[in-house]
Amino acid sequence: MTAVDLAVIGAGLSGCALLARLKQLGFSGSVALIEAGRGPGGRTATRRSRRDQGWSLDHGAPLINVSAGADDELAPLLEPLVRQGQLEPETRILKGLDGRGEWVNPPQHPLLAGWLLRGVPEMAAVSAGLLALGPEDLQCHFGLRLRWIERRDGLWLLADSERSQVIAARRLVMSGNLLAHPRSLSMLAWPDVPLRSAVAVGEDDQLDQALASIAAIEATVRWNLMLSLPAPPLADWPRMLWCLPEAQERWGLERLVFQPQASGRLGVVLHGFDADEPITPESQPRLLQQQEERQRAAWGELTAGWPGGSGWANQAESLGVMRWGASLPIKGSLPTRLQWCAASGVGFCGDWIDGPGYGRCEGALHSVLHLAEQLMGSN
Ligand SMILES: Cc1cc2nc3c(=O)[nH]c(=O)nc-3n(C[C@H](O)[C@H](O)[C@H](O)COP(=O)(O)OP(=O)(O)OC[C@H]3O[C@@H](n4cnc5c(N)ncnc54)[C@H](O)[C@@H]3O)c2cc1C
Repeated sequence: MTAVDLAVIGAGLSGCALLARLKQLGFSGSVALIEAGRGPGGRTATRRSRRDQGWSLDHGAPLINVSAGADDELAPLLEPLVRQGQLEPETRILKGLDGRGEWVNPPQHPLLAGWLLRGVPEMAAVSAGLLALGPEDLQCHFGLRLRWIERRDGLWLLADSERSQVIAARRLVMSGNLLAHPRSLSMLAWPDVPLRSAVAVGEDDQLDQALASIAAIEATVRWNLMLSLPAPPLADWPRMLWCLPEAQERWGLERLVFQPQASGRLGVVLHGFDADEPITPESQPRLLQQQEERQRAAWGELTAGWPGGSGWANQAESLGVMRWGASLPIKGSLPTRLQWCAASGVGFCGDWIDGPGYGRCEGALHSVLHLAEQLMGSN
């Protein structure tokens, strides 16, 4: 059994930023990072291809936008990344898409406001860069999806569903809320909410309140279709087409994101809205297929009038659909006063914490500032 002072679940932006911030503040305890995915990134992860080494596609958030005035507070996290070239201002063309499929001025939208930044060479580089700023002797456990949590004798015991490997930690931080939110009951058919089962009701009043707040959080679902295409016919091809309400209604898409590839090809991600049917282990394969068919049809229809015509539809190679079960929190949040539950030694960070940038990358980064201070002060 591995034993550490602090275990952080999740290597998305907030988990990695927390580790970077703790290092900056002089945290000296042993730390383990546990992540279900194959590498850092979470919802800013980058999809790679086994067949094509150079292929990379940002299939989650394609941008980070920082509100005016927030850059000062986030400077300890952002500045090193800008200096090292892992974050760059996004200067490529953003357009709106109207209900006739015409390219128009982009709309005003919370995800397009403020200082726009992108990861270089891809979005996953941002989390990777933050991770590199973290503790040197960090234990990283990638590809480990935790399912089982127990609190025994003042320690957190963490393991996957087979309990093949147990990690013990004095303190625990969850950067994703899957293990604390009832959505796992239907989406993953789990019989319980793991964190709720680990600490009985009434043992830690703060944690009871935190779990109640987390249970009320609602997030949108996105079904993102990934396509590979030959090079676009224009050199100044837009980076993103944001669908205006009438286009969203007509094609069921939020935006289309274009990512030129080293090979000269063009990666495209269609951000598709949710289907009405609940996602369960049984319904998911069918929903994925329906989304792929629906979005391919929408792609064919809306590209028909573009330069290059029907080639856009005929030559589009599908790389499948990525389902984001909780893409952007839209309702409910965890108040900052409940971010650290001292009696149980468990804390939370992520874009679902109340505060500036809530529901976006900015909020994920911001959430770690307060928590890091609390962790430094707790023992
Ligand atoms: C399709 C899409 C488009 C988006 N567009 C934008 C945008 O344009 N601008 C913007 O600012 N934001 C956007 N966002 C939101 C942005 O991606 C998030 O706000 C941000 O990435 C959240 O980071 P986080 O660290 O809080 O969470 P996450 O990135 O979700 O990190 C949590 C991590 O915890 C891991 N984890 C969870 N449970 C377990 C477990 N049981 N065991 C092991 N690991 C676990 C997950 O695998 C994940 O890597 C978008 C998100 C999506 C999905």
